[in-house]
Amino acid sequence: MSTFDNATADRPIGLTAPSGIDRAAHHRLDEAWLAAAWSHPTTRVFVVSGGQALIDDTPDGGTELVMTPAFEAPVTETHRYFLGTDENGVRYFALQKDSLPGRMDQSARPAGLREAGMLLGPRDAGLMVHAVALENWQRLHRFCSRCGERTVIAAAGHIRRCQACGAEHYPRTDPAVIMLVTDDQDRALLGRQVHWPEGRFSTLAGFVEPGESIEQSVAREVFEEAGVTVGEVEYIASQPWPFPSSLMLGFMARATSFEINVDGEEIEEARWFSREDLTAAFDSGEVLPPFGISIAARLIELWYGKPLPRPGSAT
Ligand SMILES: [Zn+2]
Repeated sequence: MSTFDNATADRPIGLTAPSGIDRAAHHRLDEAWLAAAWSHPTTRVFVVSGGQALIDDTPDGGTELVMTPAFEAPVTETHRYFLGTDENGVRYFALQKDSLPGRMDQSARPAGLREAGMLLGPRDAGLMVHAVALENWQRLHRFCSRCGERTVIAAAGHIRRCQACGAEHYPRTDPAVIMLVTDDQDRALLGRQVHWPEGRFSTLAGFVEPGESIEQSVAREVFEEAGVTVGEVEYIASQPWPFPSSLMLGFMARATSFEINVDGEEIEEARWFSREDLTAAFDSGEVLPPFGISIAARLIELWYGKPLPRPGSAT
């Protein structure tokens, strides 16, 4: 059982809420089914381009993806991703294009996942993260890693097949670890990346290396970036992070040494913060409250034990 009670945190983890979409992977190789689904009048399609999609305000104050019936979308397009069906049998596709379509009304606007992920409801956020992840993978895997020849899209966007050697390539996901480290006084270790704006501190993070367990990866990254050794590691939650192809695995970790020695290359500064230290730093403006869809904000809030101030809010 987790030592961190999720009820103490009010911050949802972006891009992880149940979307209500059944990915229906068994249809991906059924061209006849896909063709019928594409032309069905209830089918909904949105365009994804360069990690962006059009979003629009709804009358009830929400935000949604701009979707059209498939028959309004170009049918000659080969970059068509089947994303799944909902509980009403509606089929959803994304169409990858070189640019987004013209705006249909004044309030529709292009948005990337970092913005849209905080505004869209679970269904649309789930559809968009799926489409953006596929688009990123397609863009970077146009050539066969086995023989170097061109690959073509297959399985409604979920396979790339080499026409020369027949190899099938599947969407790749790179595991990355992100962790909040605490010390023997239950202070949290937060660091500043070299290229971050002043005042931004967050959890440490890094990629899992070949031949490494995720627990080993947590320990190695924390030691490399901050010079601190860790013992006990507790898994909290994961988050798709298709920038371009990561899966963030979130942990709480207990330090077994406490002296900080930052690498100076990736991490410029790291500090132990007590809850009181962090509250004071938020109040003075020395540290900016975490923002955005990243699981980092949730990990910090789990430790903090109460909602973190929102950016720009008076504290
Ligand atoms: Zn090949």
